[in-house]
Amino acid sequence: MSPPQSERRHLLGEELPALRQWLTDNRQERYRADQLADWIYRQAAESFEQMSNLSKGLRAWLAEHADIYRARAAAESVAQDGTRKLLLACGDGETVETVWIPEVARHTACLSSQVGCPVGCRFCASGLEGVRRNLSAGEIVEQALHVQRLIAAHADPSQERPARLSNIVLMGMGEPLANYEAVMQAVRILNASWGLGIGARKITLSTVGLPKQIRRLAGEGLQLNLALSLHAPEQKLREELVPWGKVPLKELLDACHHYFEQTGREVTLEYVLLEGINMEARHAAELARIARRLRCNVNLLRYNPVPGLPFGRPSGEAAYAFQRELRSHGVNAHLRTSRGQDIEAACGQLRRRKADPAEGPVAESPPNSPTAESSPEPE
Ligand code: SF4
Repeated sequence: MSPPQSERRHLLGEELPALRQWLTDNRQERYRADQLADWIYRQAAESFEQMSNLSKGLRAWLAEHADIYRARAAAESVAQDGTRKLLLACGDGETVETVWIPEVARHTACLSSQVGCPVGCRFCASGLEGVRRNLSAGEIVEQALHVQRLIAAHADPSQERPARLSNIVLMGMGEPLANYEAVMQAVRILNASWGLGIGARKITLSTVGLPKQIRRLAGEGLQLNLALSLHAPEQKLREELVPWGKVPLKELLDACHHYFEQTGREVTLEYVLLEGINMEARHAAELARIARRLRCNVNLLRYNPVPGLPFGRPSGEAAYAFQRELRSHGVNAHLRTSRGQDIEAACGQLRRRKADPAEGPVAESPPNSPTAESSPEPE
């Protein structure tokens, strides 16, 4: 009889050196780990049976002692623009959301890092119920591979080169820097040549800002893109909107500046536009001052209301006026459109609706959503 899941390896969270160690500890040849990594990460194999260059005996041993995938797709929705959202049920029954954003030149996966979110932004569906637990590295990598399999399943067979996942945004449910170890292990697997081989510059980590962790990230030697979900350029307002925003803004911005200096990678500011809340001329002036200091771009996102929450979506005209104001201060500001608006593409909404169908469809977009990687609104 196979050992219980708690004693079995979840292979998708394993780095190559650990796989080698595990196999040699179990009297298997070291190079088998390289073959195994190729099967699970590059070829997205679903079963050990597919691993034709491994002996039957090794395949049977692996099937007894390890799992490749532990999550299954519990729901899937497709937007008119082709964006697909998956609700994945983990081994313990918890659910997380993952989004595939197909575009002409790239395929992006928006991954979750926690079940729920501890930050509790006042305007966000994911923040409403708090955090239930961290995801493991394997559960994060697994999301990317579920998207890779979707891409392969929908690939145009006439294309010479098979379509592959090219970009990752850690902008789904959760605060990635609050689950630092697992997120970094997942990033190393996503980035490694023996893993999914996605360049660090194509991986974006979005955070509400934990200064210590940002400084730690700067020292990792990776060139990840960092997106700071700012949403308010003043301390008091930020604390009201983002409960974890109680850290002094100066300390947070110093950490972002340090990140830029250490890595050479620009930090992007994400700013959700909330009608009548954070769109005054003085907010634009202060936001511009911050952006100039960090020498960074600003992504503006028009909020879409979540039922039950007291925030409104600004008109397009008001959003453009805010963008113009920022530009008049010399800041590069983009107004982003939301991808997949008709499928509850913002984090937390499909999960909430699945848990409580009576809630009905909701329309969307807190900042840590795939919208951050979406196209500029036509001007
Ligand atoms: S917006 Fe992002 S950080 Fe804020 S509660 Fe929602 S998921 Fe968490």
